[in-house]
Amino acid sequence: MPTLPVHPDSPTAPPVADDRTHVLGLAVPELRALLALAGADQSYRVDQCLDWLYAKRVDSFDQMLNFPRGVRERLGELAVLYRGTILRESASSDGTSKLLVGWPDGGSIETVWIPDGERHTACLSSQVGCPVGCRFCASGINGVQRNLTTGEIVEQAQHIRRLIGERGRLSNIVFMGMGEPLANYENVLAAIRVLNAPWGLGIGARKITVSTVGLPKQIRRLAEEDLQLNLALSLHAPDDELRRELIPWDVPIDELLDACRYYFDRTGREITFEYVLLHEVNDRPRHADRLAALARRLRANVNLLRYNPVEGLPFQRPTAESAFRFQERLRERGVNAHMRTSRGSDIAAACGQLRRTTTATGTVATTASTSASAAAAAEAPPSE
Ligand code: SF4
Repeated sequence: MPTLPVHPDSPTAPPVADDRTHVLGLAVPELRALLALAGADQSYRVDQCLDWLYAKRVDSFDQMLNFPRGVRERLGELAVLYRGTILRESASSDGTSKLLVGWPDGGSIETVWIPDGERHTACLSSQVGCPVGCRFCASGINGVQRNLTTGEIVEQAQHIRRLIGERGRLSNIVFMGMGEPLANYENVLAAIRVLNAPWGLGIGARKITVSTVGLPKQIRRLAEEDLQLNLALSLHAPDDELRRELIPWDVPIDELLDACRYYFDRTGREITFEYVLLHEVNDRPRHADRLAALARRLRANVNLLRYNPVEGLPFQRPTAESAFRFQERLRERGVNAHMRTSRGSDIAAACGQLRRTTTATGTVATTASTSASAAAAAEAPPSE
């Protein structure tokens, strides 16, 4: 499949396969304009429509029974509620579920539901593929196809809500699925505003986590949004030399930490470092010592994750004992370090194991898109 180069500062526009408006991506003024176009220009119609979309979660405009039939028909001509098709649904024995969602242009992504008692977390994707290409992760192997739109991001959360059904309420969101969310900044932020809005999904900002390999400019910009989002930095190496080997986007750690410090100072939100332990690559005592020093600089928490091998990639999973020793070494140095256990491994949702494959026609045939980060989400839902 041809891949579009995506520079962090200039995200690609998605190809348009259906030019009707995707309602789930709209802010209130845009929805008001759409309703007016459809012949429902009374102010109360906006609240009625939002109630159908997010409180009642209807599947079609036809179900919006307090709207005149003509308005519903016109809305169907102008707009769509859901763009995606559920191509596959996989359920783990531990309760984790994955949806493979296909979009009209042939792109597809996975989105994950992680139940944990009363907490229900959705792990959302932000791009079709990933432009970063971390060496240990299958998700970036084929590069990135495109950014997801705002509506496509919100739609994932709506699908997860359907899965949860009567069992509870979607309480947490992590942007740890496929893609680098800060490389699709505008759409991710617009989606967060819908997820967070009282008229939308009503999920508190403190229960929404954005995970990034690190784009300093976008981290600073996020800090200035005046949202109380959690920020997770996918660090994975404690020095620049090793990090360059693992993560092709070459951003000096000092620069990243400065941006994270700005985020912490501005929002008061603690930073979390995500760290995938790779046997004899980044899991030696000297790595723990350096990581501890970095974490102490920011008073950051560290989430450790034992690597799950990916066929064709040269990395190994460390033993539980060596991972435990690494964690203890961090703790002895005053770092709040947690080790996560794998979930969803029976549906191949474990860390970085899945990959996208393409057919000769360029269609995504298998969209195994759960990334290292997505699995980290399954293994490390945020603490709130
Ligand atoms: S670990 Fe995350 S940032 Fe790195 S290639 Fe995988 S999805 Fe992209």
